[in-house]
Amino acid sequence: MKDEELLEMAGLCAKCGTCRTVCSLYPYRKTENAVARGKVRILESALAGENLDLPAVREAMADCLLCGRCERECPNQVLYEEIVMRARAKLADEVGIPAWKSILFGNVMPSDAAMRAIRRAGAAAQRIFLKKIPTDSGLHYRFPLKFFGDGRMFPELPSKGFIESLGKSEAVSGDVMLFVGCVFDHLFPEVGGAAYETVKICGRPVSVFRGAACCGLPALTSGDRKSAFVSMEANLRSMRVAAPETIVFPCGSCLLMFKRNIPELFKEGHPLYEDALFVAKRSIDYASFLLDSGVARKFPDPATVSFPGVIGYHDSCHLTGTLKRGDEPRKVLVRAAGSAFKEMEGADLCCGYGGAFNVRDYPTSARIGENKVSVAAKGGTKIISAACSGCIFQMRDMAARTNPSMRIVHVAELARHALFGGKEQGGRR
Ligand code: SF4
Ligand code: SF4
Repeated sequence: MKDEELLEMAGLCAKCGTCRTVCSLYPYRKTENAVARGKVRILESALAGENLDLPAVREAMADCLLCGRCERECPNQVLYEEIVMRARAKLADEVGIPAWKSILFGNVMPSDAAMRAIRRAGAAAQRIFLKKIPTDSGLHYRFPLKFFGDGRMFPELPSKGFIESLGKSEAVSGDVMLFVGCVFDHLFPEVGGAAYETVKICGRPVSVFRGAACCGLPALTSGDRKSAFVSMEANLRSMRVAAPETIVFPCGSCLLMFKRNIPELFKEGHPLYEDALFVAKRSIDYASFLLDSGVARKFPDPATVSFPGVIGYHDSCHLTGTLKRGDEPRKVLVRAAGSAFKEMEGADLCCGYGGAFNVRDYPTSARIGENKVSVAAKGGTKIISAACSGCIFQMRDMAARTNPSMRIVHVAELARHALFGGKEQGGRR
């Protein structure tokens, strides 16, 4: 395995060990190989030709949440996330990726039609085969232990996604475009609906991006760059044709793709270079849009709105950590909920999702996530709000497993409740 540029990037690591003190995974692994320094060492030995066991190197690189805490604290500004993503891509080329990933990333996620078909089939099957578990974050289903092990819960799959529920002529064009993302369209359509209802009162025409491929982040972080590019290119082309002034993202991870990763990947000379810049410039997170567009000024006096408990906010690694958009959702929550919003214990703890990490090592992912939810609960939080699809997916599972009275909601659901009242927060009933 050879890559001079990657070797140079890894060479910036001074092996100081600061990353170990902040690593989200280290307290659970208690091994040097879990942290950035250990992984850099493993990679350097593979790149130097000293370690020829590439499947083992691939596993070492996969054993990371990509939460970015190490990179943010690194005194040498080692670009750890980029190093791991490049290493995963290189190893995928040399030793391949697991079959389930190549089917999911290559055949399902680039296709809106395939995602819809799978959701429908899953919705029918789960009602027949799985055990129903009602929780305050909505109905969950428990997989048999032999299937996914350790009591994994899965949200009730809706028979209709959010975009399917829109009328054919509704929200088809407008200079504000809402990119709902696959999770908030297919798994949690109530979040997609809340984002749409609150964005559309901004006073400008609002469209909902239809026929979207996955943003490509799961494929990219797993090293399947080919599939990631299929998704990214399809989205960029459609967005450029629609030419919106603003693209609003309720999910911080999708935003990370369009705002940071895509412009880095579609370099000058690429046929979609201009399109990537066009889209990145116009991409904005949900809360910032509510603040900038004036929607947040339309909230009624929060003293007149009731919420069923203390609301906290979870800092997602991508939105707060990487994109530095932690203040904006809090400002929206203060306007929407007033004193019902309180800073949450452990707000910046990683939820343990980590994309494919959650599938690769669910027991560890669950331990990290359960800790997150229980720290918040012990501090008095009754409703955890967030603005990232992976974190909401993970924390709803964790709450359903260990703290069924805890509600996990998107900021948009609380904003909708403040603006229009009526609807319960915390998932479908
Ligand atoms: S903090 Fe940065 S320089 Fe220090 S060991 Fe970790 S990656 Fe290397
Ligand atoms: S990205 Fe997170 S889990 Fe991975 S090594 Fe860095 S701190 Fe640890």
